[in-house]
Parts: sequence; structure tokens; C-alpha cells
Amino acid sequence: MSKSFEYDYLVIGGGSGGIASANRAGMHGAKVALIEEHHLGGTCVNLGCVPKKVMWYVAEMMESIQHYSDGYGIEWTEKPKLNFEMMVEHRDKYIQFLHGAYKKGLDNNKVDFINGRAEFIDESTVKVNGQILTAEHILVATGGKPKRLPIPGGDLGLISDDVFELKTLPKSMAVVGGGYIGVEMSGIFHALGVDTHLFVRKPKPLYNFDSIICEGFTAIAEADGRKIQTNKTVIECKKTDDGLYELFFEDGTTHKTEMVLWATGRTPNTDGLNLEAAGVNVYPGGYIEVDKYQNTTGNSIYAVGDVTGRIELTPVAIAAGRHLSERLFNDKKNAHLDYNNIPTVIFTHPPIGTIGMTEEEANDLYPNESIKIYQTAFTSMHSSITDHRQKAYMKLVCVGKSEKVVGLHGIGKGMDEILQGFAVAIQMGATKKDFDRTVAIHPTAAEEFVTMK
Ligand SMILES: Cc1cc2nc3c(=O)[nH]c(=O)nc-3n(C[C@H](O)[C@H](O)[C@H](O)COP(=O)(O)OP(=O)(O)OC[C@H]3O[C@@H](n4cnc5c(N)ncnc54)[C@H](O)[C@@H]3O)c2cc1C
Repeated sequence: MSKSFEYDYLVIGGGSGGIASANRAGMHGAKVALIEEHHLGGTCVNLGCVPKKVMWYVAEMMESIQHYSDGYGIEWTEKPKLNFEMMVEHRDKYIQFLHGAYKKGLDNNKVDFINGRAEFIDESTVKVNGQILTAEHILVATGGKPKRLPIPGGDLGLISDDVFELKTLPKSMAVVGGGYIGVEMSGIFHALGVDTHLFVRKPKPLYNFDSIICEGFTAIAEADGRKIQTNKTVIECKKTDDGLYELFFEDGTTHKTEMVLWATGRTPNTDGLNLEAAGVNVYPGGYIEVDKYQNTTGNSIYAVGDVTGRIELTPVAIAAGRHLSERLFNDKKNAHLDYNNIPTVIFTHPPIGTIGMTEEEANDLYPNESIKIYQTAFTSMHSSITDHRQKAYMKLVCVGKSEKVVGLHGIGKGMDEILQGFAVAIQMGATKKDFDRTVAIHPTAAEEFVTMK
């Protein structure tokens, strides 16, 4: 006799991946429950993409006023000033609205919402708020959290979650970490007038990105007066008698600041889930092991999103979660996410867009094929009539005789919105010839991608 379950599908984690997968399963008629211990929306809505992007927008506006208003002949009777507290209030109201919208979505798809912390009892049983639930299929979509450095004083200062609790701006801030969260956050605080220093352990920020991005970002940031120090390994942080923080570096130097922000990586939320009881293996570091169909080693247990450590982005978690539900509840037996050619934007000032291989990766992957690089650096028209001339950098990485475009990278105004369309072309296998026979849109920065020689 087959076992009977209370639910067809139990989803642990109400963030990007969990909500998307639960809704899709509900749409196909599955009996679904979603368990979330904090707010619906997870990291993206509450502590990531959404509040960060609001702050990026305000930083963009403040920076535009500062850099370009004179050049465009805009006169102010009194220079605009940011009411940070008001921005926070409006931002948080918007996030509350999103909580309601997500709840409505779950209701529309008849997904039961349970507010609590889940842990496995066995492979088909979960405990939450003292209640025992059983399901035929269980998804782990518990995301991740920011990591502090294991150094003396590493517990002092903020992590990215705390940034969204700030009600006032500090005078100075030290951001530690040269990955995307470090460069984004330091850019935002710099643009908001905080004396911001970015400390990067590697020889350049955004070390794993294409060289045109690392170098272009550094050149633009330095021209904007940003303070970036590379090859800086923090070994200690201390609170000083004057209420500041002091960072101590391996090279013997120190730095004093009002606020420290650790942007030093993230770690998966697998603690306390009792995954062993469900037969779910994790890699060292806690990330859940999955195959290309998001199957874990546990029977009928799956994982998507940041908890798997594969390209930690909201649309990736969403797509993986939806494909999984299509496979489980809509008979699409081969449905799975292709993790190649995932476009991504880093919300620096100006933004960075990137998809596919870096030049360095293409050289490694295709040692016997010819790699052709097309690149350009130019002053964006947007800034060219002002005293604050800002450069843009763009690169195409092409492979083989047909010059298939396998990588596209750029930094410059509008790059965040430019990328999506090019991502479609690259996903379809576009060649440089396809780019060349596409008529340019003038005057834009995007036209450079179809006019490079
Ligand atoms: C500062 C910052 C900026 C970012 N900016 C971007 C961006 O611009 N674009 C982008 O695409 N991505 C961005 N990201 C990444 C993005 O937020 C994540 O990739 C995405 O949220 C991952 O979704 P997820 O479903 O895997 O996990 P999450 O969204 O983290 O959701 C996991 C949920 O599970 C819950 N949970 C954990 N354990 C349990 C348990 N035992 N029981 C019940 N519930 C549990 C958590 O409370 C959480 O709500 C950013 C992240 C950060 C930190």
C-alpha cells in the first residue's frame, strides 16, 4: 500500500526560489504548503535586491545632481539634500506592500502559508512550530546569510543585512570585500556623501570578472574620487576609545572609521535543518549537493537557490524552482535550468552588465579555437557636455570561424537595462555577423555593441 501524505509538496523557505516553486506547483493542482520563518520574499525582497536597488536609485539621483547638473545648466536655489529617514520609510513601505503581494500570490494558488522554522524528522516528515507535516516531495530553498571574518573583532560592525536597518548615515564607512556586494554598497554610500573606503584582499576588485570590468570599474571609480585599496587583508578590528573602529591590516597599516561593513561572503542556511535525518548530503561549507534536476541525495527531496551555492541570484533561484515544479507536477520529465549564459548586473555607479565567458575563460576552454576580442572605451554622451566626463567600457568575446559571441561585458550608464536584450541574442547563439547586421540605435551607448570593429 502506498504511503499517504498530508501534502504533495512542502517548501521550506519563502524566498525567491521557494515562492516561485510553490506557486507553480499550486497552479498545476498540487496540494502545497510553504514554510517561512521570517518575512515572505526572503533575502531579495527584505535584505537584498529590492532595498539595495532603492538605495542605488537614490544614490544615482544624488550623484547625477552632483556631477551633471552644472554641465546641463540646471541651477538650484538651494542644493537638494537627502532626507535619508524619509527614503527608508518609503522603501520599507514598498517592501511591506510586496509582502502582501506575495501572500496574495500564494492564496491565489491555494498554497498554505506557515510562519515558522522547519526541520526534518525524516525524508518525508518536517516539524514546524511543534506540528508534524508529511509530504511526498520536499523542497529546501532556505537561502543563505552574510558571513563575518573569523578574526578578532570580526563580530564588530555591520553585515549587509544591517545596512537596511540604518536610519541615519555615518560620516565614514570602511567596506571590507571586493565582491559584488562590497562594490555595490561602497558605491551607494560614497554617492550618498559618506567618506567611504573599500578594502579588497585581491589585487583588484571584482577579481573573477572579465579584465575589462575590473579595470574599467577601477578607472571610473577612481575618477569619481572613490577610495579603493587593494591587496588589503584585515587581520583585526577594534573599537577605539573615541567610539570609532580601527581596522588592522596584514601589511601593518591601519584605518579608522565610524562604521565597518563586512562584505566578506555568504554562507548557506543549512544549520538546524537536520538534513542528516533526511539523507541529504552537503558539501564542505554547508551547500546542498544537487544534480542538474535539483535532486538532492535524499529521496524526493530537492534544493534550489542560494542554499545550493550555484550562481546566487534571484532569477536563478526562481527559474530553478519553476522548472522543478514543471517536472514534478506537470509531467515535463526533462525540465531543468540551464546554468550557462546567465546574465547579471552589478549595481555600481555606473552599472556593470555581464553574460557568458570572460576572455580568460574562453582562452582556457577553447585552446585550439581562435578567440577574437572586440572592445571599446569611450566617453558616454550623457556626460560629455559636463565637466564630469565618464567613460564606458565594452567587450565581446567571440569564438571560432563563425565568431560566435560567447561573452559580453560592459560598464557604463544604462548597462543594467542594455544587457537583457543582448542576453536573448547570446542565448540563441548569435555570432558577430548577427551583431553587425543589426542596425544601431542612435544616439545610445548600446549601439557600440553592434558597431565594434
Ligand atoms: C545585499 C544583497 C543584494 C543582492 N542583490 C541582488 C540583485 O541585485 N539581483 C539578484 O538577482 N540577486 C541579488 N541578491 C541575491 C538574491 O537575494 C538571492 O540570490 C536570492 O534571494 C536567493 O533566493 P533563495 O530562494 O535561494 O533564498 P532566500 O531569498 O534567501 O530565501 C530563503 C528563505 O528561507 C528562510 N529560511 C531559512 N531557513 C529556514 C527554516 N529552517 N525554516 C523556514 N524558513 C527558513 C529564510 O528566512 C529566507 O526567507 C542579493 C543578495 C544580497 C545579500
